[in-house]
Order: sequence, then C-alpha cells, then structure tokens
Amino acid sequence: MNKSKPTLYLVLFRCDREAMVKVGALGDVSISPGYYVYAGSAKRNLTARLKRHRKLQKPFRWHIDYLRPHLVWVRSFQLTEHEGECALVRAFCLVTGATAVQKGLGSSDCRCEAHVLKLPQKEPAEWDPAGFSERWNAAGTAAFGSNHHD
Ligand SMILES: [Zn+2]
Repeated sequence: MNKSKPTLYLVLFRCDREAMVKVGALGDVSISPGYYVYAGSAKRNLTARLKRHRKLQKPFRWHIDYLRPHLVWVRSFQLTEHEGECALVRAFCLVTGATAVQKGLGSSDCRCEAHVLKLPQKEPAEWDPAGFSERWNAAGTAAFGSNHHD
C-alpha cells in the first residue's frame, strides 16, 4: 500500500435521541434516532484519527466533532483498496441509499452535499462494510467519477 495515499474510513454512529445541534458557522443541524455515517480520510496515523473521533470531549475542529456528543459510536472501518473521500460519499449513498444530513455538513472543502450521511434503515443489518467495498468495486470507479477538489 502506498503510504502517501490517504486512507478512507467510515464511522458508523447511532443516534438515540432527537437533537438540534449548533455546528459552528454552519448553524443548527437536526438529528433524529437512526444510524449516521461519517466519511473521511487520513493521510497518516489513521488509528489516532479514529481514536479522536471516538472521544467525546475535545476541541471542536470538524463539523462531526459538534455532533459527536449526541451520537453513540458503533464502529469504524477502513477502505484500503479505494481512493477519494468524495467518491466514497457518492458510492456509499448509491449503494446504501444513505442521504446527506444537511448541505455543507462535513463538506466545507469540497462540493459534496455532505460527508455526514444518514442511513435509511433503522437497523444497519444490510449494511455490511465488506459487501459495500465489493459493490463499489463491482460498479467501478468510473460510475462514481473522481474527486471534485479542483
Ligand atoms: Zn466531498
């Protein structure tokens, strides 16, 4: 694996209680019971990054940090054979039917609607990370395009 390539990851959270959360300059974000997914990438030290996401108390740096105290950590996983967190967001929405929580949430630096997504299912039983990676492969990266960071 090329170490200079950022590693993609997804974090699955569960929301048990409805909440209105003030997310920095973005403003109020409403969350409701169900499952949420955060899509990100880390250039190095993915373990430390995930550990940080897991922590509740920390200086708020990313949008997801503001939501974190209102969400229950379920699990995280890495996608080592893919590239591009925006491509990941598109693939994930297409494959799982997940939708953007709010425009601009977690996507201040790109053109995605959001990098925080809500899963349509109450229980993510059908959402198997290995299966997702396989389906993304099967669809091919061409179907999802490349990153729009330009
Ligand atoms: Zn994006």
